[in-house]
Amino acid sequence: MWPEKPSCSRCGKEIHPEEMVYVQMRYPKRKGFTEIKAYLHNEGKFICEGCINREPD
Ligand SMILES: [Zn+2]
Repeated sequence: MWPEKPSCSRCGKEIHPEEMVYVQMRYPKRKGFTEIKAYLHNEGKFICEGCINREPD
């Protein structure tokens, strides 16, 4: 799984395994990103389902 436990970037709630999450990220410049996990960990912002269903700030 992930190197560290990810958490929601909005509410800070810990993301549990197999939980539905949304990832906000910048599309990589390089073609064929095989290091997707590392990329997501560095660049991605996780947003839990609860926050997605909630009104944006
Ligand atoms: Zn959240």
